Amino acid sequence: MHDINALKELLKEPKEVMITTHHKPDADALGSSLGLAGYLKKKGHRVTVITPSDYPDFLSWMHGNDEVLVYSEQNDELVHRIINESQVIFCLDFSVLSRINEMGEYIREAKGTKVLVDHHLQPEDFADLDYSNTSAAATAELVYDLIKAMGETDLIDTAIGECLYAGIMTDTGSFRHPSTSKNVHLIIADLLHIGVETSNIHRLIYDSSSELRLRFLGYALKDKLVVLREYSTAYIAITADELKAYDSKTGDTEGLVNYALSIEGIVFAALIIDRVQAVKMSFRSVGDFSVNEFAREHFSGGGHKNAAGGISMDTLENTVTKFESLLPLYKEKLHNAIKK
Ligand code: 5GP
Repeated sequence: MHDINALKELLKEPKEVMITTHHKPDADALGSSLGLAGYLKKKGHRVTVITPSDYPDFLSWMHGNDEVLVYSEQNDELVHRIINESQVIFCLDFSVLSRINEMGEYIREAKGTKVLVDHHLQPEDFADLDYSNTSAAATAELVYDLIKAMGETDLIDTAIGECLYAGIMTDTGSFRHPSTSKNVHLIIADLLHIGVETSNIHRLIYDSSSELRLRFLGYALKDKLVVLREYSTAYIAITADELKAYDSKTGDTEGLVNYALSIEGIVFAALIIDRVQAVKMSFRSVGDFSVNEFAREHFSGGGHKNAAGGISMDTLENTVTKFESLLPLYKEKLHNAIKK
């Protein structure tokens, strides 16, 4: 990790700053981006947040949401100009440029100083300054730590604090994953101290489902859940037609994979969804079974040891067949990754 003095030097004078994050941003991706944006604006920088794609409506309450540019929906000329003219480009919550789709190559070629702030495994070497820490629970935790290292936590107001809280809360699974460290709790104590209403944020993110989303959840659990006891594995595969029938919106399938993992004795869970352009996969595990390795090796993906994702350009049916056919290779590892 780079010395904080390099960042202090870079941000000494007001600059044109761009912040971007991964495809289909989740609460940590958007929360860390908007939290950082709020802080940098207070320091006098001109900041634009550009996301590679849209994101769930349940994140739209975040301060700064109205000014976010969505790359896939904007006029190309505008976003390319911003990418080219930015003096500093923050890349948050992703470790490889391919995670931001075609925007990745424009960022690679951009002249601005690239600063990576991330907690995923195997970071690609594309940034000029790298503040990655793979043991951090969330990128929002790293943003808080960076602001602290800059000696400027006094600039964190409730609007910034709410964004950071959302990122930390969701990426720790509401403070239950092993990544929930003492540092995480100390940050949350600081955020409570400045007046962040934590229960309100929980409600905004977790209790704002449409009726159809809940009915879809019921359908998926009742009719689509496959439990393979022999491999301590459970998965749910969803077709494009099923998504359509339940009018599924961005973010509606978030959290679904966790239900499969919550079954007693299950240590590996997958959610496999036909998104038409590609089949998208979400993996979760407990214990020592690394879904990061599984996703990297078989489905061009990556992530963390216990939460990762990947894609397949094959049909949903063939992808499910491939997924099932891989399990015997991991039988021993799955068997050893017992839930403690
Ligand atoms: P989710 O299943 O919630 O989409 O993602 C779980 C974790 O894996 C997140 O940290 C996410 O950034 C990462 N991830 C998801 N899909 C991919 C992918 O296709 N490639 C890589 N490298 N990481 C992914």
